[in-house]
Amino acid sequence: MTMWKCEVCGLIYEGPEPPEKCPKCGAPREKFRKLSDEEEKLVNRSRFSNYLHMEAYTLLQELLEVAEKGIQDNLDPGCYKIFVEEKEFALMTMQKIKAELETHMKKQKWG
Ligand SMILES: [Zn+2]
Repeated sequence: MTMWKCEVCGLIYEGPEPPEKCPKCGAPREKFRKLSDEEEKLVNRSRFSNYLHMEAYTLLQELLEVAEKGIQDNLDPGCYKIFVEEKEFALMTMQKIKAELETHMKKQKWG
C-alpha cells in the first residue's frame, strides 16, 4: 500500500491516493507527500520494534505502580531495597525507551 505523509502534522496515510484532507490536522490533499520506496521500507521495518517498545513501556508503568506500593508497604529493609531498585529500573528504562523512540522519529523509523 502506498504511503503518504502529511507535511503539516506528520500523519502517515496508507492508500492508493492521499485523502481529501488530513484526518488529523485537516490539511488539504496537496500537503501530502508520497514516501519513497526506501522511506516506506524504513517505516514498515521499524513498526514491530516500535510496537514492542510501547508494550514494554506499558509493562514498566505497571512495575512502577507495584514498586511504589511495595515501598509504601515497607515490610522490612530487604523488601524495601528491592522495590526501590525496581522503581529505579522502571524509571530509567522508560527514559531509555523514550529516547530511542525519539531517535526513530528523527531517522524516519516511525509512522
Ligand atoms: Zn496532518
